[in-house]
Amino acid sequence: MAKFCPNCGNEIKDGADICLNCGKAVKKEGSNTNPGGKSKIAAGLLGIFLGSFGVHNFYLGYTGKAVAQLLITILTCGFGAAISGVWALIEGILILTGSINTDADGNELAN
Ligand SMILES: [Zn+2]
Repeated sequence: MAKFCPNCGNEIKDGADICLNCGKAVKKEGSNTNPGGKSKIAAGLLGIFLGSFGVHNFYLGYTGKAVAQLLITILTCGFGAAISGVWALIEGILILTGSINTDADGNELAN
């Protein structure tokens, strides 16, 4: 799909950040939202409510962290959930505030 520079009307290549004709920075389409991305809200809430099982990290593809949180909870018969839960709660908040804004593949999260 062709895009056109809002400044000079020159056609801009897909994925280009600046207009090659006038050099003006071009805002990427949907730069704040990624419709195909995973939901930031869902990931954040999963972290806050089910984080001691690593659910939000499984969701985002951070499997290593997810397994670590899950194991902390399971191997301690739930006592470690206090640790993994707080860890996940912080991550959930970081996700909701945008400090963590990509999944494990580097894809931007959708709002
Ligand atoms: Zn231009």
